[in-house]
Amino acid sequence: MKEQNHTPKHDLFVFDAHCDTVHDLVDPTSDFKKRTGGHLDLQRSQKGGLQAQIFALYVNPIYAPHQALKKALILYQTLEKKIFTPGYGTKVTCTTEMDHALKNNILACWLSLEGGHIIENSIDILELFRSLGIRCLTLTHSKNTDWADSSGDSPRWDGLNTLGKRIVTRMQETHMIIDVSHASDKTVESVLEVTHTPIMASHSNARALCNIPRNLPDTLIKEIAQRHGYIGVNFFPVFLKKTIYDQASRNVQQYEQQHQEILRQKAGDPDFISKAESDLFQKYVIGNDPVDITALIDHIDHIITIGGIDCVGLGSDFDGINSTPTNLPDVSAYPTLADELTGRGYTTKETQKIMGLNLYHFLKQFDP
Ligand SMILES: [Zn+2]
Repeated sequence: MKEQNHTPKHDLFVFDAHCDTVHDLVDPTSDFKKRTGGHLDLQRSQKGGLQAQIFALYVNPIYAPHQALKKALILYQTLEKKIFTPGYGTKVTCTTEMDHALKNNILACWLSLEGGHIIENSIDILELFRSLGIRCLTLTHSKNTDWADSSGDSPRWDGLNTLGKRIVTRMQETHMIIDVSHASDKTVESVLEVTHTPIMASHSNARALCNIPRNLPDTLIKEIAQRHGYIGVNFFPVFLKKTIYDQASRNVQQYEQQHQEILRQKAGDPDFISKAESDLFQKYVIGNDPVDITALIDHIDHIITIGGIDCVGLGSDFDGINSTPTNLPDVSAYPTLADELTGRGYTTKETQKIMGLNLYHFLKQFDP
């Protein structure tokens, strides 16, 4: 589709590449129409102009090796029950379906799996998720899988091993989107070597501005962009500024003592450990300095300088992070971000690209 044929309802078309909202919706008391707390629900989406969202089915690696698949299926069913069945949003698997949802003013919901441990080393299970309409797999979360190294773990495979290479090759053949957020640099390099398809880093920032392994170095930003890929900037202050990351790291030392105790007492109960980890994360993985949208736009600026205006967009990580830039508390504040981009000198067209059109055009490359 040519750009001018795409007619979003509002001038501001907002499309974000990553949120963990489904994880919170599993709670039986949680209603997507209007939630207490959290970052994303129907009412706030409408207020902020959010028209399309990639919803991650995030499963804590603690569920590996044999309970992650069940957890992912429960998350999938939660989306069905809490968002699709009441008609708050509709599942989309290509931009034609997305156009249809946008025309009918229904939230267009893309689905992704986060991370690779969920498929239990099976290409058949990967293909099963593909047939359920899940278009994207984040290769790792914060731990290595049996076939790919994570940026949050010690190197085990030097990137992708033989199985990992088979998995990404199969993803390319079946037009599944390879998401390299959380993966180690070596893993991203392996993906770039083995495949020729555009790839995405759905929720990653620039390492040049915040020097942590979880962020992307300029070399990889450049390669992803040259391949017509996509980089969604993550709103988490801990990934925006190294000083905040360092503050959070110091707080985590407290977390670690309690964490080890929980792992000892509750080994074999991933539901308990996952909930406890999430509570500890909420409490401790937090910095002391306030951050506003300026810091986020610094990352957008940098990625554009390295990769050009067409490769960057949103990867909020809403509902997966415990703090946000002060003037971007939830999805209802997206117009503030658009205003600030314009204030930083971006044209209307450029602002629209960053707020959603770049992601739309990235995904269009995978249409059947
Ligand atoms: Zn993530």
